[in-house]
Amino acid sequence: MNTKIKSQPTIFVIFGGTGDLNARKLAPALYNLYLEGWLPEQFALIGTGRSKLTDKEFEERMLKDINEFSRSGEVKEDKWPGFGPNIHYQAADVQDAKTYKEFAKRIQQLEKDWKTPANVIYYLAVAPNFFPIIAENLAKAGLTADADRARIVIEKPFGHDLESARELNKLLNGIYEDKQLYLIDHYLGKETVQNIMAFRFANAIMEPLWNRNAIEHVQISVTEQLGVGDRLGYYDGSGALRDMIQNHLLQLLCIVAMEPPVNFTAEEVRDRKVDVLRAMRRFTPEAVRDNTVRGQYGAGWIEGKQVPGYREEAEQQGANSQSNTETFAAIKFFVDNWRWQGVPFYLRTGKRLHRSASVITIQFKDVPHFIFPTETAETRRQNRLIINIQPEMSIRLQVQAKRPGVDMVLNTVDMVFDYKGTYVAQAPEAYETLLLDVMLGDQTLFMRGDQVEEAWDLVMPILNAWENRVSQNFPNYSADSWGPESAEALVAKDGYHWFTIPLETKK
Ligand code: NAP
Repeated sequence: MNTKIKSQPTIFVIFGGTGDLNARKLAPALYNLYLEGWLPEQFALIGTGRSKLTDKEFEERMLKDINEFSRSGEVKEDKWPGFGPNIHYQAADVQDAKTYKEFAKRIQQLEKDWKTPANVIYYLAVAPNFFPIIAENLAKAGLTADADRARIVIEKPFGHDLESARELNKLLNGIYEDKQLYLIDHYLGKETVQNIMAFRFANAIMEPLWNRNAIEHVQISVTEQLGVGDRLGYYDGSGALRDMIQNHLLQLLCIVAMEPPVNFTAEEVRDRKVDVLRAMRRFTPEAVRDNTVRGQYGAGWIEGKQVPGYREEAEQQGANSQSNTETFAAIKFFVDNWRWQGVPFYLRTGKRLHRSASVITIQFKDVPHFIFPTETAETRRQNRLIINIQPEMSIRLQVQAKRPGVDMVLNTVDMVFDYKGTYVAQAPEAYETLLLDVMLGDQTLFMRGDQVEEAWDLVMPILNAWENRVSQNFPNYSADSWGPESAEALVAKDGYHWFTIPLETKK
């Protein structure tokens, strides 16, 4: 969590500087931090990639990307001179050890010019198969020896399964101190996700209700209207469980279910989150059969536009036209501890669904005895707390109230905290918060190796069962739906339904 303190002189080395993540997220985030006065006087961004570019060409490319993707809009002419000249480029093949000597020279030169040592952040925005080789080569070249100054940021996916995550952890822990490692899950940097902790732990009225005595069940939905598009190459070997549930959705679950930390420091918060993962019920083969649903989208129409099915996209892109990769997953989890015993947590995520949104809904138990004269589904509705993460950014508490009139009729009303209506300032992008935290050396909003391993350990029985059992009925949901019918059945057999996703949408 950032404070108002600016970081030390900083050099950001972005592996994958010519890639999509840097263009859409990292460079715009650093530019916005500069605009808002968060960057130190002495700051440099060194982009790398195999492409042959000069410093100037790379700077121009970054300007174009920032113009296109920054939340602050097009760069103002008078602002660029304070940021653009700090952008450098080093053409490099990460597999070539000589590359790292060139980095060392660049860094030494900058420190000489600045007359001060700098913190150096190595951001691995490259394909995950390069993570080990970069981590090893940086260490071999002595670039990360000063544990107080050198940090390494690792993008998702962290491993492909439990075994590969363990291997990567072992390798990183053998070379680096824990305080140097920043494993990114960008969901944790979202304003609305951080606010769940504020809402839970800065308000005394929540704690007495936040447990199995008052809460009936929890739903976490992260839905996307877009299909897989040109990410198919990566996605086809991954799927919704690996791509979304193992990381983003389980992180959201941890924040909802965690015990109050003693204080808001990295180790405390991360310890309490890993406690949740440890307490989660492991899946037997029967539980996989009964409590999980997978889906793959077929062709259809979205907002008047015809869209292809996943297998058609796979065929067009030269991948397996009979792919069994799931583009939808819905899973019922339990957290076996005193607070949550018996409370189901239903998680679902999917592509090509009716709307794009991330929403957590907490359904409270019913009143013990209904005293009013008219009892209908509308008059007697259980309280719900709806935490809208995106695109709507709000917290809604649904309560029953008397409808105006001479008779005693109830209906459901919302008590709302809405970011748009409450604050004028635009919320920062998740990457802005996270990049600043790396500069300040604050790991609170980053995952830790043991957390990642626990999350893999939890989902492995599902992955194994799904991979060993070819689904006969793919595609099993059409574009613009809410996923396969069996996902409805998953909650319906417990007497529930998936809650409606709010109307405000963004693709
Ligand atoms: P991308 O657009 O394919 O970019 C890959 C980058 O790696 C390019 O800059 C490429 O540079 C560089 N590269 C490839 N081989 C190299 C080599 N041998 N030596 C040096 N550089 C090499 O990928 P991306 O979408 O930016 O994703 C990067 C990472 O971020 C992945 O791990 C991905 O899973 C993760 N991620 C991405 C997003 C996103 O929104 N894009 C979101 C979350 C996580 P050249 O072509 O110039 O060699």
